[in-house]
Amino acid sequence: MGTPRTFSLEKTITDMIDYLADHGDYDGKASNVIATAIRNLYEIAGHSDESRNKANEIAKKMGFGKGGVSADFFSKLNTKKLNELFIDEGKQRLSTKSIVKPKLQVELYGDGYTGLLWNFHNRILPVKIVLHIIAQQIIKNENLIIDLETAREIVREVIPDFTNRFHDMDFHLISESDRKWNAKIGFPHTNESAKFLPRVKKLEGRGHSNKTYEQNLDKVVEGSISFFVDKFLGMKLKGKKGFRGACFELGFLEIDNNSQIMLTELGRDFLKYESPALTAVINSEPEGSEIFSKTEVRFLMEKVFSQDRFGLEYIMIKRILGNELWKKPEDVLSLDSLMTILKKEQEKYIKNNTRYEKIHKRNYSLVDEDADKGEDGQCPNCQHEFKKNEERMEQTVTGRQYCNKCVKEINDNLQKDLQKQRQQRATSIAKRLVEMGLLSRQDEIEESVEDEKEEKESEMGRPKAFYRRTDLGRKVYEEILSKNS
Ligand SMILES: [Zn+2]
Repeated sequence: MGTPRTFSLEKTITDMIDYLADHGDYDGKASNVIATAIRNLYEIAGHSDESRNKANEIAKKMGFGKGGVSADFFSKLNTKKLNELFIDEGKQRLSTKSIVKPKLQVELYGDGYTGLLWNFHNRILPVKIVLHIIAQQIIKNENLIIDLETAREIVREVIPDFTNRFHDMDFHLISESDRKWNAKIGFPHTNESAKFLPRVKKLEGRGHSNKTYEQNLDKVVEGSISFFVDKFLGMKLKGKKGFRGACFELGFLEIDNNSQIMLTELGRDFLKYESPALTAVINSEPEGSEIFSKTEVRFLMEKVFSQDRFGLEYIMIKRILGNELWKKPEDVLSLDSLMTILKKEQEKYIKNNTRYEKIHKRNYSLVDEDADKGEDGQCPNCQHEFKKNEERMEQTVTGRQYCNKCVKEINDNLQKDLQKQRQQRATSIAKRLVEMGLLSRQDEIEESVEDEKEEKESEMGRPKAFYRRTDLGRKVYEEILSKNS
């Protein structure tokens, strides 16, 4: 370890720093001690978020940023304290009236996601970690409400450290003893991992200055962190279109129309369970064999995936884990069969849930109230602006209004989308079940570190994935899923 000796500090000071690094909650790093000291000085001087950010910035420039500022977040969550804060009647909370109703999956991600989680929410662990960070902040400030922007800043600051720590760990899920589990998937790129991306690599060496390379690397990492914060915590959508992000969609956070956020009861319940992977990271353990605990997985199945907005996801989980597929012990589920199941269930689900109704004359007055001006008064397909009293078709769930002639085109496009995205959607559903230990993957193909841009539209050859139901998968089906209709 040793203290960076760029400054000529008195020996007594450096001894103190080394002592604190070894004996305090500083992960054995002198830089963490120094960053904490600087931050404390700023807090004494200013108490404001601004001064804290400034302190972080300076600490970062001095090379102390990594791990230092975020040290507070690497401790076990005091759920008792969190609970007490939420019981405290004196604490201010969001007013029910101002809470923004979360948009449906179909409204956020399009018809192809009706009842499904978004593909990029392919891991649940990042959601848990974001909630952990927010809860630590609530405990620190003793304030139940956080501004979304502040929360985003904090997560942005802390998440690279979590990612690095996962990078250092060796994960082999109990259910998949041979395969290494890449715990970093879902998390943003770090300076280390981004170096291996083709679009970064090509700027290395010949013909490109070091500065260009470094700048590009920084940009890639920053972009990846932004994408992470947008997708897992959440972001405000343009105009008056509300919010999106896994924490809101899964029901763990709520937000008001001033972008103030608060943990929901469901979110607090999720935080009550200790996730083995998070605990391992906090304790700097070298190995891990479970992401979520069995009780936590049951909670996710009973309370989270069973929410109406994930209707198709839940049907798929039931089909995948259902006894119908697992008659003999040697049975496996191929990605192809999984896609066949998705095709059937998705077509059925969309048919049952997506209706278009002609808006009759008697409804015109209703329509006109919110649909005669601006974006709502346009056909989302062809941008045609509706005139008052013009006949149109309304998609009943979303309330979107289309020209009569556009409905067919939309259905054709939807069919194309369902086909094109089927493999990725099926894989995404399976990945979440593997993460929860309900399925195990049977092949030994290494998953590459996913990259949002590279993954987005890639039409790679099909990896030969086969899945097997785990013992936990069977139990969860028999004890929970089979009992819910
Ligand atoms: Zn149209």
